[in-house]
Amino acid sequence: MRRRTFFSRDYQRQKVYDWQYSLEIGANRLPDSEISEMVEEVCFLYSVPENKHPEWMYNSRLKAQSRYCPSTNRIELAPEWGNMALVVLHELVHAIMYQLDIKDCWHGPMFVGMFKDVMEMFLEKPKVNAGVAACRHGVDFIESPH
Ligand SMILES: [Zn+2]
Repeated sequence: MRRRTFFSRDYQRQKVYDWQYSLEIGANRLPDSEISEMVEEVCFLYSVPENKHPEWMYNSRLKAQSRYCPSTNRIELAPEWGNMALVVLHELVHAIMYQLDIKDCWHGPMFVGMFKDVMEMFLEKPKVNAGVAACRHGVDFIESPH
């Protein structure tokens, strides 16, 4: 009877990572200015209030992973590969879901649906769709209604 735990548990985290890296898109590296533009554009598209836009920075620890930190509302990118378009979009979706209080676990169906949406905005849409169709890795996602 504790169904709520299903969505509070990050049940498909590894599947989402495997899926993301099998898509073979968005591996291009972004200059700092484009990362900043991407953050602003995605926030604008989702109507995130100005005071809730996340900041971004490179993590100074060389071995650090990319992550979104809710307590500071900051995207911390891995110093070596965090500037890949797909990595920035991934962390940005975490930030937006958190700031808009969208109820889902970190890598749940809502996350993947939004991640696919922002991929279509910034990467070549046919490649995104082909990649997503070819490899689902059993990833659950909610298709957005547009
Ligand atoms: Zn994540």
